[in-house]
Order: sequence, then structure tokens, then C-alpha cells
Amino acid sequence: MRTLCLVLCLLTLCGCANQPVAAPPAKAAANHLDWKCLWVWGLPRKTLQDAQHEVAISKSLGFNAIACDGKTQYMKLLMPEARKQGLLVYAVNGAPYGQWGFAKLGTIQAPPNCVQEFPPEELKAMSVQTDPDLPVNPGPWLCIDRPEARKYAADLSVAMLKEYGVDGIALDWTGYRNYRGCQCEYSRVERAKFAAAHPELSAEQVQKEFSLQRIELYYQAVRDAVLAENPKARLMCHIYPQFAAEPLYGWRLPVEHPAQTVAWFFKPHWPMQVVEQNCATVKQTEHKRYAYQVGTGFIGLDMAPEAVKTPDRLRQEIHAIKAAGLKGFCIAGGAEFLNDQGLSDVLSQELGGAAHLHPALVPAK
Ligand SMILES: [Zn+2]
Repeated sequence: MRTLCLVLCLLTLCGCANQPVAAPPAKAAANHLDWKCLWVWGLPRKTLQDAQHEVAISKSLGFNAIACDGKTQYMKLLMPEARKQGLLVYAVNGAPYGQWGFAKLGTIQAPPNCVQEFPPEELKAMSVQTDPDLPVNPGPWLCIDRPEARKYAADLSVAMLKEYGVDGIALDWTGYRNYRGCQCEYSRVERAKFAAAHPELSAEQVQKEFSLQRIELYYQAVRDAVLAENPKARLMCHIYPQFAAEPLYGWRLPVEHPAQTVAWFFKPHWPMQVVEQNCATVKQTEHKRYAYQVGTGFIGLDMAPEAVKTPDRLRQEIHAIKAAGLKGFCIAGGAEFLNDQGLSDVLSQELGGAAHLHPALVPAK
């Protein structure tokens, strides 16, 4: 490709080519991605300097949006810096997951007695990792089937908008281990009602459809509350591949950018044919229900030995997203990958970034 571009440039400079020369394919492809979101954890997020650095990293690599899980003080430092650079900021709302304690903001806190329930033997089986693609995450998890869990997620989102002044909310930890099969009394009763209303469905189909409809309700509640607070606010989320019955269900959600996992973190990395097929599916379904939705491909990237990718592999995955015609792109992982020269070079080249901040994009904590 580089050789081809060089030849074309030389032809132009020599005046040998009278016809307009097409833009180099790499540039055209980079322009094709409209919404490019960086979602990393592990960055130092405390001081104004941290905020300026986070914005600088994101811009230099070519991103125009970030998902950030900073606390109130940091978000207030970050927002003016992001505004100066035209960077969209989404506050991460991981309401359903309580391993580190359920999120609190102001007077908003998780509803009591609203966690998922499973028989002990089932919970034990779920706690053993048997598939590298399906990490085990110890609970507690909110039961997202319930209206009080939806209200909590919605209230927390509104509080984040008010407190941080962000552009939108990034919904996280939904559709993970909490995606189906909760055995709390509420879920059992509601699932039984759903089954009775749908005698045409098998038990497996009931499980899947009931779960998907409850996930939809969760997102809808958040959307309604967020838009009531700020009609210009936007939603994004991560669609985990754990929902095995239909892993690319983002089209069903009222979300502008459902970042659907087209390439997951873990080795063995998914064959490129699978990545390409995932991208095609996301493209085909992006407007199936919501005209405002933008098909968005999610790539997981982490420097852990069980996950790390080569720069060439990362480039192939990004190319698959572009080739499918997706305009939304989200990459997520531990911030250490930003310190890898090869990986950050690929990001900068593919996303139309400019500067290089090496060495040490990510300062020591
Ligand atoms: Zn439940």
C-alpha cells in the first residue's frame, strides 16, 4: 500500500498523471469512522494534569470520544479540557455490578435486596471458568429484571449528567452474568407470566426472549430519564459476547452507539472470518429498530498475556470494521496498551491521529 501511494505521488509530482489522484485508501478509510471512542481503565484520574494528559492522548491517537469512570472531582476538571479539544465524554455507569460496591452519587444508591439469586450448585458452576471468552466475575449482581434496578440505573445516569456535565452515559456491566436465569421470586413469577403468554415458545426461547425484553426495558428506562434531563445527551454501551443465544443484540436497544463486540480480548483470538462476519451483522442490523443508531464495532485490547494482540492483528480488526462500513468504533482495555509503540502507532494511523507522545503515553500512577 505504501509503495502504491508513493508511485501515485511521484506520478502526480512529475505531471505524468493528468487525472485527479484518488485520496490514499488509508486516509479515505480513516475518514469513514465518524465516532471513535477510547474506553480505558487504569489511567491516573485525579489532577488537572491527568485530565489534560487524558485528552491529549485521546486526540493524538485520533479518537473523538472517551468513556471515563472518573469521580466527581476529576470529571469537573476533565470536562473543560475535553470541550477545548472537541472531545465527547461519556460517564461510565456500571450500575448492575457490585464487586467493588454498588455505585453511589449524591443521594442515589442501589436498591436494597435487589441482587440476582441462583441455587448454590448453579452459582458454584457459574463461578468456574471453562471458556477463555467467558470470564468469571464474582457477584453481587443486580437483578436487572426488576423495575427498582432500572430506576437506580436511570437515577444514577441523571445524577452523572447533572454532576459532571458530560455529553452522555456509557452503560456497562449489563448483559453479563446478570443477563438471564435469575431465580429471585420476582424473576420467577414474571418469567412464568411471560411463558404463559407465549405458549408457542420453548423453555429456552422463553429464557432468551424474557431476558432480552428485560434488558431492553433497562436501557429504555435510562434513555427516558437521560433525555428528560438533557435532550441532547447520548447513550453508548458495551454489548458483551456473553449473551450466547444472541451475542449481537445491540440493534434491539435504544442506544445511539451500542458498541458490539466484534473482536474480543482473549486468546485464542477469534478467527478473522468471525470478526468480519460480526462486523457484517452489526452493519446489517444497525437500523432494524432505531433510525438513530450507528453500527459500532467494539474491539477488546489488553496487555495481559492471555489477551495481548500484535499491531498487525489490531490493524486487521480495525480494517474489518471499516470494510463492513461501520461508522462507530470503540476500543477498550487496560490503559497499558497505550504505552505500546506498535499498537498506538496502528491506532493513530487508522484513526487519523496526528502526534505521537511516546515514550510513556501513560504516566506512572
Ligand atoms: Zn431476579
